[in-house]
Amino acid sequence: MPGLNCENILLPIDLGHESSWAKALPAAADLARLYGATLHVLTVIPDVGMPVVGAFFPADFAEQAHRKAQDALAAWMNDHMEQDVTAQAHVRSGTIYDEIIAAADEIGAEMIVMASHRPQMRDYLLGPNAARVVRHARQHVCVVRSE
Ligand code: ADP
Repeated sequence: MPGLNCENILLPIDLGHESSWAKALPAAADLARLYGATLHVLTVIPDVGMPVVGAFFPADFAEQAHRKAQDALAAWMNDHMEQDVTAQAHVRSGTIYDEIIAAADEIGAEMIVMASHRPQMRDYLLGPNAARVVRHARQHVCVVRSE
């Protein structure tokens, strides 16, 4: 059976939840090695929600949040990425599943690797973001079971 053409793999992670990468990162790194693909690690700063909430934040809140997320992701890459995998970091803001799907398209990823849900949400086989990505992304999606 011919293999997949896979030059770019997207790994979306929630930096606040280790369960979003504890199993998905080794799986994605193995796939990146197998295909000789670049591993794109994405973290999304979620929307605050109602526009009225914005009034309580300083004007440069969004830029500050973006910079902090970039620093946190760079530190995470430093700590967890193995040297033999080519990796790139991406930070975006917005609705998590929309941004994962848009990033996959913009990067030209052929595959998305993501954990299914947080362990606390074990009653659901797929969390809300994973479910929407599986349903709407054009790419292959490898859902790594959290447990
Ligand atoms: P749960 O609600 O149980 O956390 P989700 O569907 O939100 O389930 O999470 C599953 C996956 O969605 C995570 O493993 C991760 O791949 C992705 N994800 C969740 N939050 C973020 C985020 N802020 N940035 C990037 N990816 C995220």
